[in-house]
Amino acid sequence: MSDIFCKIINGEISTEKVDEGDSWIAINDIHPVTPVHVLIIPKKHGSLQEYGDSDKGLLGELIAAANRVAKKLSLDKTGYRLIINYGEDSQAHIMDHLHVHLLGGKRLGSKLVR
Ligand SMILES: [Zn+2]
Repeated sequence: MSDIFCKIINGEISTEKVDEGDSWIAINDIHPVTPVHVLIIPKKHGSLQEYGDSDKGLLGELIAAANRVAKKLSLDKTGYRLIINYGEDSQAHIMDHLHVHLLGGKRLGSKLVR
């Protein structure tokens, strides 16, 4: 697969990592919408819809990874939001490789959708 996340994961594109685990990497979003905007990206390629029952462990690891990164960035004190987009209506920029947005560093809006 040749999406930008796979290129970062296989080393074709070098990017500073915020954190890394066996099954995931965490990098800063290149177009941050909040003071802290980190992407938690599984090393396994696939869209959210391609993840199923056999991926329960990995899906859980992504949330645990987001919590670990949030704590590393001291967001466990102030709070943060996790978002996963899928498909056209979500306006995801990269749809074919699952990633979790970790947003924080400021008081976020109270509405999840506008
Ligand atoms: Zn990929």
